[in-house]
Amino acid sequence: MYEGIVQELIDELGRLPGIGPKSAQRIAFHILTTQSFDTTRLSEILADVRDKVKFCNICGNVTEQETCSICRDPRRSQTVICVVEEAKDVAAIERTREFRGLYHVLGGALSPIDGIGPDDLRFHQLVTRLADATVTEVIIATDPNLEGEATATYLTRLLVQPGLRVTRLASGLPVGGDLEYADEVTLGRAFEGRRVVEA
Ligand SMILES: [Zn+2]
Repeated sequence: MYEGIVQELIDELGRLPGIGPKSAQRIAFHILTTQSFDTTRLSEILADVRDKVKFCNICGNVTEQETCSICRDPRRSQTVICVVEEAKDVAAIERTREFRGLYHVLGGALSPIDGIGPDDLRFHQLVTRLADATVTEVIIATDPNLEGEATATYLTRLLVQPGLRVTRLASGLPVGGDLEYADEVTLGRAFEGRRVVEA
């Protein structure tokens, strides 16, 4: 334990996901002792980020405008939508450069244990986007874990409609993990090898 504000800093850092007590202490002392570390810049960004960042009103991706840069890009294919759990999955898929369509961010995965049901995710908005039949394929790219599988199964049933192909990323992704942890090559291959799923 440290005195006062030093311990407060360590405690706050330790509340962040993936940062244990030792990492929190190491980051705190880096901030304290590194002259070149710009604390003003960091505090300004932290103060700004909640005000400036919004969620795209079409796909749910993070953006500083009403719609995100992907939805605004006319060169992206308007006929394919890739459904992911979180905005960070969009970033992971973009890094593979395999996909040139649009996205739909659900905002999580179905998880009865955590009390997350269909009404808590952006399923309804997805169905609305499919109404005019421009989209001919929906690629389900939920995480390769229990909740992701449950969400994929739910989606497959929800999306049954004439003229719409529903596909799922090929296996080969690390099971039990998070899409963002898959390396670019593996994720790229999973896209290429996607298969049609039947409800
Ligand atoms: Zn968007």
